[in-house]
Amino acid sequence: MLPSRIDVIIVGAGLSGLTLAYRLRNSGKSVLILEARERLGGRIETLYTPGTAPLEMGATWLGRKHTALWKLLKENGLEVFPQRQGEYAVYEADARRPAQFVRLPPNPEPSYRIRGGSSVLIESLAEAVGHDRIRLNQAVRRLTNTSEGVAITTDARSYLAETAVLTLPPELLVRTLDIDPPLPEDVGQLAVRTDTWMGQSIKFALTYPRPFWREEGSSGTFFSNAGPVVEMYDHADASDEHYALKGFVDPELYALSGSARQEAVLKQLEKAYGASVRNFTSYVDRTWRGEKNTSSPLADRLVPHQNQGHPAYRLPYWNGRLLMAGTETAAEFAGYMEGAVRGAERVARYIRSASSPRT
Ligand SMILES: Cc1cc2nc3c(=O)[nH]c(=O)nc-3n(C[C@H](O)[C@H](O)[C@H](O)COP(=O)(O)OP(=O)(O)OC[C@H]3O[C@@H](n4cnc5c(N)ncnc54)[C@H](O)[C@@H]3O)c2cc1C
Repeated sequence: MLPSRIDVIIVGAGLSGLTLAYRLRNSGKSVLILEARERLGGRIETLYTPGTAPLEMGATWLGRKHTALWKLLKENGLEVFPQRQGEYAVYEADARRPAQFVRLPPNPEPSYRIRGGSSVLIESLAEAVGHDRIRLNQAVRRLTNTSEGVAITTDARSYLAETAVLTLPPELLVRTLDIDPPLPEDVGQLAVRTDTWMGQSIKFALTYPRPFWREEGSSGTFFSNAGPVVEMYDHADASDEHYALKGFVDPELYALSGSARQEAVLKQLEKAYGASVRNFTSYVDRTWRGEKNTSSPLADRLVPHQNQGHPAYRLPYWNGRLLMAGTETAAEFAGYMEGAVRGAERVARYIRSASSPRT
């Protein structure tokens, strides 16, 4: 049973919100997460179908330099496995010339994926936090600093918190939340000019009964200047039993229907890999631009990576009652899963140590 006034309400059950709740779970503070979507994970979304490799529609790769994420995975008993790269990439220099094989140099900083899919981390954190501490389908609309605490209003009801932590991307936050009193004007202006990491991207996956792309001198690693597929990788599962290709499509294709995009992808890949491309068992794609809980419709005008990690996002507002913790707030690795973990851990430290009187 939750008290009527909760110590910490976290807005958003993505990696940042869940990591924050996880880091506060033994702090003695009551914590509640309010999530707008009907699922957990935000920009982490792994699709699971029996007999198929887990398909990452959002965050996929991490490196050894992502130390906070690495530690969190370890603590949760989760393993990583190296991204299969191959010796050669298939490279399309332009649309007029056929694709060529390019020998890939050894990668000094290999990329890894999470065994079982990135969503296993989300599930593990949610399990540790307790599903009763997370409310789905609760889009927060308004936050008001009152004498009793922070009043937080969703479409369904109101909550009262000592501290509210926002994990939404800054651009979405200032465009969709009614914050009273508002954030300082310069912070509001900064936020509408802060790109949401990968918020405009389109990811696709194709599943296959066998990895035909692994023939001598080839691989699932594909780069193209011609498009619509701009890059692609082997996406087999960790035990290499189920096969898939996964890549990025030019964001300009967002306006096409799913079937038109699928055909554009297949046509291009068929030119590079031959007729086997058509022997797929499933095709799926995700246009993140259309995700209203990731970025606003005005976000397409932003310069990629602009203003991420700005120090203003690490300041406490409302005398410490209003904090921000999403990946775009991180001083290092802003935008990445690592940034989401670091942002959350910074706020967890702040909340644990905050002792200043509140007014
Ligand atoms: C296509 C794609 C590929 C990526 N690839 C990689 C990768 O390979 N490696 C990597 O490190 N990172 C990658 N990223 C970035 C990574 O996904 C993010 O850094 C990380 O997931 C961000 O977590 P977050 O919790 O900060 O934000 P989010 O995941 O955006 O979480 C914010 C949460 O707030 C919720 N929310 C929004 N509005 C409201 C509201 N009004 N009320 C309540 N809840 C609300 C959202 O639904 C969401 O769950 C990728 C992202 C995308 C989109």
